Amino acid sequence: MFGKTTKSAQADAESANAKFLTQGGFVDQEMAGVYTWLPLGLQVLRKIEQIVREEMNALGALEVFMPSLQPKEYWEKTKRWEGVDILFKLKSQTEKDYALGCTHEEVVTPLVQKFIQSYKELPLAVYQINTKFRDELRAKSGVLRGREFRMKDMYSFHTNQEDLNEFYQRALQAYVKVFSRCGINVKVVQASGGIFTSNVSHEFQSITSAGEDTLIACETCTFGQNLEIATVKEGGACPECGGNLVKTKGIEVGNIFDLGTKYTDAFEFSVNNAEGSTQRLLMGCYGIGTSRLVGAIVETFHDDKGIIWPESVAPYRVHLAVLASKDAQVMQEAERLYAEMQQAGIEVLFDDRDESAGRKFTDADLIGLPVRIVLSGRTLEKSGVEWKLRTSAESEMVALDAVMAKLTNPLT
Ligand code: ATP
Ligand code: MG
Repeated sequence: MFGKTTKSAQADAESANAKFLTQGGFVDQEMAGVYTWLPLGLQVLRKIEQIVREEMNALGALEVFMPSLQPKEYWEKTKRWEGVDILFKLKSQTEKDYALGCTHEEVVTPLVQKFIQSYKELPLAVYQINTKFRDELRAKSGVLRGREFRMKDMYSFHTNQEDLNEFYQRALQAYVKVFSRCGINVKVVQASGGIFTSNVSHEFQSITSAGEDTLIACETCTFGQNLEIATVKEGGACPECGGNLVKTKGIEVGNIFDLGTKYTDAFEFSVNNAEGSTQRLLMGCYGIGTSRLVGAIVETFHDDKGIIWPESVAPYRVHLAVLASKDAQVMQEAERLYAEMQQAGIEVLFDDRDESAGRKFTDADLIGLPVRIVLSGRTLEKSGVEWKLRTSAESEMVALDAVMAKLTNPLT
């Protein structure tokens, strides 16, 4: 590991994710709202993005990778060169203007237009997982609001509203699944389109006290409404399941939009239809802030000692710490266990540093892997290891020859 744990957090770490992600060596702040993803953090980001990728593929969407450098002409076509205040603009040495992608309607619409001419080739959905740039006035709360951040954005194209509605509903369900696979319970909140001026839109809110948005949400199902527009009341019954409605805070981790013909009108994107004439296409767009999701997970799963990663997104499954690393026999046994885990495909972080037991335990709690296994002279005397789950305060002795079997089963 070159990303080291530290006792001190970054100066402006007012939120749990900023504090623990920097202290644990997951990310390094380059400047406000801009982070390097260090090896540990990158592992988490990749796991989340893989979950997202699997669920988008399951929808039948195709993965692409679009440019972040975008010509001014496209943004003028959609009348968004002026007016989108968070758009980063740059000039080349030949005085040409470019935008740095804050979203990709301006790229995906003319892209799909190049390849699709007939209704027979529709519906179509493409997505990417890419870096986005936004000139946020207040970049704060760690990776929750960045100026450079990661997003999965998907765009769907349809010949009629029913077709769009059907895909939109399936995408909505896929989103709930993505978040639940990441350990996060979301509320699905109907919302207005913001800078996207859309018809229907839904936000996916991860419930945590660190959230920026205030909601009235159901304690039982995924129903939620933004407080300012809410038609339901705190203490009332959920209109969808009858559950109890409570006031909570949420972090927007995803957002989907029915875009109508806003962008296909701008680019005059029509296809041949079955009646022998041409027809304007309808579009939907679907975003998940994958780097924000890392932060939302930390806000949800931590204690005063550090992060408590859900298994599905933990950077590694096992934290293997060897104490008395100068003792050859202890070290040999630890190396053997480490090799065995690697061979079995069990993701393991091996703490073989020459550090005190106290430091190693503090770091294990901070980093927050699901299971901590300690091997020391004392445990070796009993031919065992100390086994402790991050979610539990208790530890137990497990015989050396039982460790692998215990690891290949669900963690208990
Ligand atoms: P917000 O209201 O939080 O500024 P937004 O509504 O402008 O976000 P969208 O355009 O809907 O954001 O982007 C899709 C998703 O990308 C959001 O739901 C969020 O998860 C993520 N996202 C947006 N802005 C940022 C940012 N500055 N840093 C990290 N993630 C972001
Ligand atoms: Mg949004």
